[in-house]
Amino acid sequence: MADLVVAGAGMAGLCAAAEARARGADVVVVEKGDRAGGAMLLSSGVVWRHRRFADFRAECPGGQPELQRLVFDRLDEGLAWLEALGAPVTERGTGNERTTGVRFDTAGLTAALVRAAGGVRCGAPLRELPAAPVVLATGGFAASRALVREHVTPEADALLLRSTPWSEGDGLRLALAAGASTSAGMDEFYGRAMPAPPARIEQRDFVGLAQLYARHATVTNVRGERHVATTWSEIDVVQWIARQPGARGFYRVEPDAMGARVRDRTVADMVAAAPAESRVALADLPFDPPPDAVAAVRVIASITHTIGGLRVDERARVLRQDGTAIDGLWAAGVDAGGVATGGYASGLAQALVLGLAAAEDAALT
Ligand SMILES: Cc1cc2nc3c(=O)[nH]c(=O)nc-3n(C[C@H](O)[C@H](O)[C@H](O)COP(=O)(O)OP(=O)(O)OC[C@H]3O[C@@H](n4cnc5c(N)ncnc54)[C@H](O)[C@@H]3O)c2cc1C
Repeated sequence: MADLVVAGAGMAGLCAAAEARARGADVVVVEKGDRAGGAMLLSSGVVWRHRRFADFRAECPGGQPELQRLVFDRLDEGLAWLEALGAPVTERGTGNERTTGVRFDTAGLTAALVRAAGGVRCGAPLRELPAAPVVLATGGFAASRALVREHVTPEADALLLRSTPWSEGDGLRLALAAGASTSAGMDEFYGRAMPAPPARIEQRDFVGLAQLYARHATVTNVRGERHVATTWSEIDVVQWIARQPGARGFYRVEPDAMGARVRDRTVADMVAAAPAESRVALADLPFDPPPDAVAAVRVIASITHTIGGLRVDERARVLRQDGTAIDGLWAAGVDAGGVATGGYASGLAQALVLGLAAAEDAALT
């Protein structure tokens, strides 16, 4: 029997496995998908934290302060650890003055972690909890229509899945059956507004076609009812659209907003990137556009990962309702809730730090 089973070969699972192996454990990594890397491989690869802990608290007010403190305090050493494993850095800094972090090449990051983890068994989903200690790192439940409908939105069937098809809440279900409890924010998720059907969105488009300019646009649902963006990450916008009819809406842009920059792109760039099928003639809007609007894009809410999940402590141990830890059971990455609740923080950072914390604690038991 292995010393430790790790379920999920994404960011959290691979970090946990690599660290446990470095500490001398015999580790088996089982992966449901046909490849390692999980959502991390599809991501922009920016592993970041807020510069000031107070900003983290203010932007994610529903999160557990001790978990947020853990991610904040331990991220920089985690980033150095990844670099020492040979993960290739493509950029230092995030382009956002409120945050600090590093961008990795995600294929190179996956390869470095798989090497350090000693390999992965692909096409081998964890279906029941083994007798051995286990780290659940299955990436939350974004890909389960049923769980998204139960917890997040009645429009679950309409949402675009902007991630892998494999994170269907297996870790959540297995842990709940073993007596686990859930965090706050089970109805929250991270995602982006994307060009709506009939435009076709492939995995390779997940980053490049994101419509990340709600703060420079007039955002409405299909009935013309309006939402005003309140966050720089626009997580409030995508969560709002997800709860509107068909999980769809419109972004209308006025001329003087077209030149506004969001990171390295202008609003005009992002509008132009939207496939023609998602661009709407102003005359075709189902309500009167403002007289000076120049462009409208039909958008759909996409879900990347869930924010609520299993309740864990700073050692990534899965907790029961009464706060006691379940022996031999850890959750890392977005299988764990309580980090970004009420807002948005780096899923990759949460995965890295909780993965390492789980491995360290498992090595002590
Ligand atoms: C397009 C895109 C852009 C993103 N950009 C960023 C960014 O720049 N910065 C950032 O911080 N975050 C970003 N993210 C989010 C980030 O990728 C995730 O938050 C992060 O990968 C979560 O790590 P994880 O290990 O919890 O899940 P994952 O990396 O998804 O890994 C979970 C793994 O578990 C596997 N699995 C599921 N069920 C089972 C089972 N029963 N048994 C075994 N294995 C199972 C899955 O197949 C998957 O491989 C982005 C995501 C996407 C899709």
